[in-house]
Amino acid sequence: MRFVVFVKQVPDTSSVGTDENGNLMREGVPSILNPYCEFALDMACRVKGEGDIISVVTMGPPQAESALFRCLELGADEAFLLTDRAFAGADVYATAKTLSAFLKKFIPDHDLLFCGRQAMDGDTAQVPAELASMMGCGQFYYTEDLVFSDGWKAVQNYYDEERECALKKGDLISVSKGETDPRLPSVADYIRASGTEIKKLDRVDIGLGTFSVGLKGSKTRITSSRPVSISRRGILTDGGDPTEAAKHIKGMVR
Ligand code: FAD
Repeated sequence: MRFVVFVKQVPDTSSVGTDENGNLMREGVPSILNPYCEFALDMACRVKGEGDIISVVTMGPPQAESALFRCLELGADEAFLLTDRAFAGADVYATAKTLSAFLKKFIPDHDLLFCGRQAMDGDTAQVPAELASMMGCGQFYYTEDLVFSDGWKAVQNYYDEERECALKKGDLISVSKGETDPRLPSVADYIRASGTEIKKLDRVDIGLGTFSVGLKGSKTRITSSRPVSISRRGILTDGGDPTEAAKHIKGMVR
């Protein structure tokens, strides 16, 4: 089996400035592997069998290499860094377009695609759906487990309703936090990772034009972004008689 896990490096803080295009200014900010991507990679590692290959891919700046190196330590077999100045400022559409072009050209014969539920910085949670749409595959959000019984099945947790969905070859799952904590690397993982080369690919390698990627290939433009500060004072009414509580709340509404 060939598993492909899409990962993103995100700033390890919420206090990051944005430039005039609304893009995060990542220079000099400590960065980490997006937690949900780590859950996705861990799920692939847990179901990996003899002879299976786990490839991790990220589109990002050169410093995103450290997130890929972490993935190799956590159990990935190979890593691809899609990096090119032209990719900068990509919105969800241009990001998914770049990732799907890579997949079609470099790993066309994949079995399952894994994404994290969302990235802690952009937080749109839209890349998995956009990527699946461009790949023409099924996509399964809120996946918390993968089981094999007469084929692969995604176990989804939809607001505490558990669903099992049959997966086809090439489908994409978007992984939430499951029951298990991600495994920690062994010494053998560290040694194997240190000897694995991270493959770097640019726009030309992937075969996309300058107007298909990055800011130029994006359909949306972030005009501004700022943290939301909630100034309202929340008042808790006790859970006693609902009619009394409603009267109490009604009395507060001016
Ligand atoms: P999500 O969709 O939240 O990520 C989900 C999963 O997709 C990840 O866990 C990972 O598995 C995969 N993934 C995401 N990005 C990559 C990547 N670069 N490489 C590999 N796998 C990846 N763009 C819009 O189109 N519309 C917006 O409204 C918008 N608002 C934004 C607001 C802010 C504050 C910021 C910083 C960015 C915003 N963007 C928006 C840009 C968008 O965040 C980036 O295009 C980003 O690459 C895509 O999405 P995300 O971070 O929201 O990822």
